[in-house]
Amino acid sequence: MIEVQSLHKSYGSINAVNGVNFDVNRGEILGFLGPNGAGKSTTMKMITGFVRPTSGIVLVDGLNVQDHPVAVKERIGYMPENGPVYGEMTVEEFLIFIAEIRGYDDPTIREDKIDHACDLCRLNKVRHQSIETLSKGFKQRVGFAQAILHDPPVLILDEPTDGLDPNQKKEVRKIIRTMAKDKAIILSTHILEEVHALCSRVIIIAKGEVIADETPESLLKRNPKYNALKLEVKDIDLEVVRETLKELPEVSSAEINEGAVEIYPKNKQSIESLVLKVCRDKEWNISHFEKTPVGLDEVFWELTK
Ligand code: ADP
Repeated sequence: MIEVQSLHKSYGSINAVNGVNFDVNRGEILGFLGPNGAGKSTTMKMITGFVRPTSGIVLVDGLNVQDHPVAVKERIGYMPENGPVYGEMTVEEFLIFIAEIRGYDDPTIREDKIDHACDLCRLNKVRHQSIETLSKGFKQRVGFAQAILHDPPVLILDEPTDGLDPNQKKEVRKIIRTMAKDKAIILSTHILEEVHALCSRVIIIAKGEVIADETPESLLKRNPKYNALKLEVKDIDLEVVRETLKELPEVSSAEINEGAVEIYPKNKQSIESLVLKVCRDKEWNISHFEKTPVGLDEVFWELTK
C-alpha cells in the first residue's frame, strides 16, 4: 500500500531524509523508530503529501503522492504529533467539520461515519463535551477519530501514545490493533516496548537513513543477551558449574555474576533444556533458573549511538 523509493529531503544544508526506501503492506504495522531529529516526521510528512520531497517517489495504493494529492489524501488517515484539534469545538462538532472536509455532504452518511468513529475510539460519553476540557488521552482519541473517519486503507500515526499514562497507552494500542487487520499502518514512537507490543516490522532511521528493517523478534536477536540464561545453584562451587557449562559445544561463554552463572549460547540458540539436563545429570541443586530478560533498548542504542 505504501512504497517509498529513494526519498530525500534537504532543508538548506541539512539532509533531513537521505535516501530512504521501504514499503508497507496491508495488515502490517510498521514501527518507525529513531532518535530525535532522525527524519521520522519529515518522512511521514512526505508520505502524506504535506512536505514535497527534494527527490524520490512515494506511492500510496499505486498513486504518486505528487501527481495525485487529493486521491492520496482520500486513502490516508494522518495523526500528526500533538494532533491538532480545535479546543473550543465539541467532539461531535469537530468530527462533523472533518466529515464535511472529507466531502460527506449527506447528513445520514456523515452521521454513520461519526457514529462508527466514536464507537471505535470510545468517544460516545464525551461526544458533546468541548475538546479543551478533555484529558490528554481523550484528546488523543479525538485525533484518532478524525484520522479514521473515512476508513482509509493507510494510517500514519506520529507518536500516538506520547504523553499518555499507562492505562491510556493501553487503550490507544488496543484501538490501533483493532484497526490493523485490513490497513497498512506506520507508527512512529520512542517507546520500544510499544514496538514489541504492536508492530509486525520495525524500521530504525538515523541521520535520515534506514539502518534496520526487520521484525521486532529479529531485532531482539541482535541483543547479545538473547537466549542467555541465569542459573543459581546451592551447595556447589560456582566455578565448577561455570567450567562444566562452558565446555558444552552449544555454549559460547559462561560467567559468574552476583552469585549466579550467566550462560551465553552460540548463535543465540535456545539452550534451556540442554542446561537443565546437565543440572539433572550432575545432580546440582537449582535454586533459581531464568532466561535473561532482553529488550530492544540495547539494540537501539548500539545501532544509533
Ligand atoms: P524526527 O521526527 O525523527 O525527530 P524530523 O523529521 O522532525 O526528525 O527532523 C529531521 C531533521 O530535519 C532535524 O535536523 C530537523 O531539525 C530538521 N528539520 C525538520 N523540519 C525542518 C524545517 N521545516 N526546516 C528546517 N529544518 C527542519
